[in-house]
Amino acid sequence: VLERMEGRVEFRGVSFAYQEGHPILRHISFEAEPGETVAFVGPTGAGKSTIIGLLCRFYEPSAGSIRIDGLPASGIRRDSLRAHMAFVLQDPFLFEGTIRDNIRYGKLDAADEEVEEAAKLANAHSFIMRLPGGYGAKLKPDGGGISQGQKQLIAIARAILADPAILVLDEATSSIDTVTEIKIQEALQRLMKGRTSFVIAHRLNTIQTADRIIVLQDGKVTESGAHDEL
Ligand code: ATP
Ligand code: MG
Repeated sequence: VLERMEGRVEFRGVSFAYQEGHPILRHISFEAEPGETVAFVGPTGAGKSTIIGLLCRFYEPSAGSIRIDGLPASGIRRDSLRAHMAFVLQDPFLFEGTIRDNIRYGKLDAADEEVEEAAKLANAHSFIMRLPGGYGAKLKPDGGGISQGQKQLIAIARAILADPAILVLDEATSSIDTVTEIKIQEALQRLMKGRTSFVIAHRLNTIQTADRIIVLQDGKVTESGAHDEL
């Protein structure tokens, strides 16, 4: 069990295959210092989501090693590891229940004031206050009843409340109106500050501001470095 996490992550020569004989990732190496943002870019099927799956230990490398805070990830309990991570995915996981409970899912013992504070930092508070019922408004199954952009803001509020060392962000590709998009960008900047963030990046802005960019092609790193080095 890992009590505290700094958020230093190292992939050293990591290879992986979902099925034997069909390698998907080959000799992937990169590192992230605590607080850094690493952006993964590359065409569909390049292996971006697979790298995230390995980081979360949904799968194990067939060769090479993953280290977290200098310790082999294989020696850290999965639930302990994931307790230090939060996810903001393209299609956020929201459940039937109140907005408050959906945000509190990031920290189950959070007081109402903490939930609201996180929602404010996530730029979600004002739209929540306009819903009939406010924080007590009920979402339909799968989070139905609010827009895609609003779902993202809820997911960001949840992650802010969870306050993890490591953040995984899969940027939305779907079109979101400009005003909401600006709110999301601003909220993400707040969320990512001071945590190690891994972003499957689609927006040029994210790529430009990342500390490191990893370009993947066919399961291999073809380029890496900061935006002005590539
Ligand atoms: P996208 O941009 O479309 O999300 P990606 O870069 O995230 O693509 P991955 O999902 O990591 O790509 O997939 C990499 C390769 O692994 C692809 O060839 C894909 O078909 C294969 N793959 C992904 N998941 C599985 C799985 N569960 N079983 C077998 N093969 C898989
Ligand atoms: Mg993917």
